Amino acid sequence: MAELVFFSGTMDSGKSTLALQMDHNHRARGRGGLIFSKLDRAGEDMLSSRLGLATRAHEVHDDLDFWDTVVEHATSGQRVDYLICDEAQFYSPEQIEQLARLVDEMGIDVFAFGITADFRTQLFPGSRRLIELADRVQVLQVEALCWCGKRATHNARVVDGVMVVEGEQVVVGDTQAGTETLVEYEVLCRRHFMRRMNSAAARVASPSPDVLPFDLEICPVPPA
Ligand SMILES: [Zn+2]
Repeated sequence: MAELVFFSGTMDSGKSTLALQMDHNHRARGRGGLIFSKLDRAGEDMLSSRLGLATRAHEVHDDLDFWDTVVEHATSGQRVDYLICDEAQFYSPEQIEQLARLVDEMGIDVFAFGITADFRTQLFPGSRRLIELADRVQVLQVEALCWCGKRATHNARVVDGVMVVEGEQVVVGDTQAGTETLVEYEVLCRRHFMRRMNSAAARVASPSPDVLPFDLEICPVPPA
């Protein structure tokens, strides 16, 4: 029975590595699949992992129709037993519905990988639809860690070293074109997310360069 599975986790939880491993395992068993990604760090038409592995992928543009794309490949004689869908949080709700339809009507397994919530702790529309429709949601077991050593559960956006909680939902981390502004992401535990204490702020707040402020007293929750 084909399934729609959503593997979710924070950044740094090994999603893309698992996506590549999954593709390898299925391919090694003689199955044929298609790989998709969107806004990957390595660039367009790529799926890359932080461990340095990478492969070609179909870029999921806003107007990509998964149903049509799969039908196209199948009618040209390519075997399509499964789809690997990385960065699925960036897909539109309609595209997630197309994936569900491929599972139900064509018996294709869909393995989607993504982060659930953005830097404001709000669900990405694509992830929301996946949680609503998936046969299974599997939270990845490789735990990303906050600077304090606790399990990281939240994705923080850091602009020029300072954590922000407002702004556009999708901004790919890098120096923004035409400006000197550096956008980065950092995973944090909930305590430090709520206190807007990313690693750079923690270093500033620490009494000496070797001591990080684990004491919550010195990083109160900022007023809303
Ligand atoms: Zn922490």
